[in-house]
Amino acid sequence: MRAQLLTAPRRPLVAAELPVPRPGPGQLLIAVRACAVCRTDLHVVDGELAEPKLPLVPGHEIIGTVVEKGEAAERFAIGDRVGVPWLGWTCGICEYCRSGRENLCDRARFTGYQIDGGYAELTVADERYCFAIDPHYGDVEAAPLMCAGLIGYRTLRMAGDARLVGIYGFGAAAHIVAQVARHQGRRLFAFTRPGDVAAQDFARSLGAEWAGDSTAPPPEPLDAALIFAPIGALVPAALAATRKGGTVVCGGIHMSDIPSFPYRILWEERAVRSVANLTRRDAEEFLALAPDAGVRTETVTYPLAEANRALADLRRGALQGAAVLVP
Ligand SMILES: [Zn+2]
Ligand SMILES: [Zn+2]
Repeated sequence: MRAQLLTAPRRPLVAAELPVPRPGPGQLLIAVRACAVCRTDLHVVDGELAEPKLPLVPGHEIIGTVVEKGEAAERFAIGDRVGVPWLGWTCGICEYCRSGRENLCDRARFTGYQIDGGYAELTVADERYCFAIDPHYGDVEAAPLMCAGLIGYRTLRMAGDARLVGIYGFGAAAHIVAQVARHQGRRLFAFTRPGDVAAQDFARSLGAEWAGDSTAPPPEPLDAALIFAPIGALVPAALAATRKGGTVVCGGIHMSDIPSFPYRILWEERAVRSVANLTRRDAEEFLALAPDAGVRTETVTYPLAEANRALADLRRGALQGAAVLVP
């Protein structure tokens, strides 16, 4: 099968012809129809996430069709369409797994990082971490739901019942979260790179009532801030923009260092927290909510062979919406 392969960090992906993978017990062999490109893929390729399997097929926002089932795989039938997310395997017995926090499993393994992912014609996935996809969505359109959507949704959930939500970094996750937030009746402000008028217009088109530079104070203080850009300096900026008792949620897996900041911007019960990975419950909730909320995704498609170009476009912030590879 054709695949795009990471052979070493900080090197371009290379086109490879790999043997067809075989599904083991409880696994599915999936013909990939679309795989979205996530910022986490960039962190893996750029060596910011330390221990990828090598060589590696990246990609963890996979939509495909079940073509073969391993022994005892029973959740899906041949021909079913499924989505495969970042969390690819958990142990089921550690303290975190047993308390509904499998996203923090001590031995968790991740798709497109420790497990070969979706930058390929075929992939194998644990059926426990495969999800049915609503027929309202096309394959390409559904792909960004699998991470930008799921982890964006978990990030928004950590904002509790905040009415006025500020989003820092208006890319793939933000454009989905914005639609969910508006559906839930929340108000939305969007913060972008200074001067990024196109991203600000994009945010307004998705229901942001104010959009401006991340360095500028918003017209009124936020109840919560969600940070999707991997820039640590946004943490103190977001704290300074957040009202008493508010929460700043960091939604990314990697961020540059957070600069020191005066205690007074954390004082008055403001909180800073991160969001790690996802649980199956997040996936089930979000994938049921998305069609009800009328969530639509903006995508830019690339042939599988042009994965490096998709990564480069994401790296320089040239995308509004999500890049999706089609084999
Ligand atoms: Zn576990
Ligand atoms: Zn992701």
